[in-house]
Amino acid sequence: MAKTISINAGSSSLKWQLYQMPDEKVLAKGIVERIGLKDSIFTVKYGNGEKFEIITDILEHDLAVQKLLEALIQLKIITDYKEITGVGHRIVAGGEIFKESVVINDDVLAKIEALADLAPLHNSANAAGIKAFKKVLPDIVSVGVFDTAFHATMPEVAYRYGIPKEYYEKHQARKYGAHGTSHDYVANEAAKLLGKSVTDLKLITAHIGNGASITAVCHGKSIDTSMSFTPLAGVMMGTRSGDLDPSLIPYLMEKTGISDIKEMTEILNKKSGLLGVSGISSDMREIIEARKSGNSDAKLAFDMFSDRIRKYIAQYFAVLNGADAVVFTAGIGENSNWVRSEIINQMTWFGIAIDEVKNVARAKGIISTEDSKVKVLVIPTDEELMIPRDVEKLKNYS
Ligand code: AMP
Repeated sequence: MAKTISINAGSSSLKWQLYQMPDEKVLAKGIVERIGLKDSIFTVKYGNGEKFEIITDILEHDLAVQKLLEALIQLKIITDYKEITGVGHRIVAGGEIFKESVVINDDVLAKIEALADLAPLHNSANAAGIKAFKKVLPDIVSVGVFDTAFHATMPEVAYRYGIPKEYYEKHQARKYGAHGTSHDYVANEAAKLLGKSVTDLKLITAHIGNGASITAVCHGKSIDTSMSFTPLAGVMMGTRSGDLDPSLIPYLMEKTGISDIKEMTEILNKKSGLLGVSGISSDMREIIEARKSGNSDAKLAFDMFSDRIRKYIAQYFAVLNGADAVVFTAGIGENSNWVRSEIINQMTWFGIAIDEVKNVARAKGIISTEDSKVKVLVIPTDEELMIPRDVEKLKNYS
């Protein structure tokens, strides 16, 4: 049976999962952390909960790939590299070029690298992962799966900005969205759960984790989403500000003496959101604990977080002209009944109501009341799985 490996390469990390296809069984998974630094951490989980970990210096992605392939043999997860028939790479920005997954050749790789303007940290790291695999296993089929691709169906009215059109035409300044594979996956799972075809449904999918985005999915296609040119926009997140008035940026730079726009962008990406407002943490569990013990900043952070998500969901009821279901997923969406209740309980006017008996912490499935016109669903996301599926689909066309 074919084995496919999915790769999610970051600037200093490489996450991977080895699947047996077509039955989609995870045979092993692992992460290499601190690539490029001393004491990199190399971890593999496999078999019946077995774990292998070493600390060693892994200075580049090539070596990380080589070590992971060696470990697969050493741990007897595979006996020969030939068993791996495909590799799929998660790529953050596909721009206007990649509207679906593709087999990666030299031309595709060059385009992925050229798109680094849209996601500087991510696309360069993704390209490093691709090159590392090509070097170690040159003949393997390599597929790129793009975070933005699911949103390629957005209409122009949703993806354009109200700025001079030459900025779009010359510089591709437009909304691209993100988390596409997750929204796509949960929309399809929601349809299965509701016993309907996704093409007959209007869904609002809420991927709420450390990064968060809301998408309006009309008949299986994304027609609007809250993340925009980059994943900084939309709802407030763990460390990201979400939407704000662009005039605030030059104002704050002047007032604080910050002269480097990169430093300001870093603050909006890494020091804002739940972390910035609470001054405590970007982690929702810690915010909830602090809120319970009466911390007013944590309460405000929690309330703002829920408020911003509620407003996007409300917008998308209008964009879709009504919806069949709201779907919660990712770390917070799957695990926090508090957040789900806080968001939905103030939207009953839309004909949506949560059944608090069903809305337990790790609920799965339908959690709305019997008579709720709009269903509320909790569906665990599995973004990784979309990667080997697309590798399987494209493998024979390479
Ligand atoms: P993700 O980025 O999808 O891994 O989600 C990470 C976020 O999920 C963090 O803010 C965690 O605090 C949050 N999270 C995980 N479990 C829980 C839980 N039981 N209750 C509230 N938040 C949770």
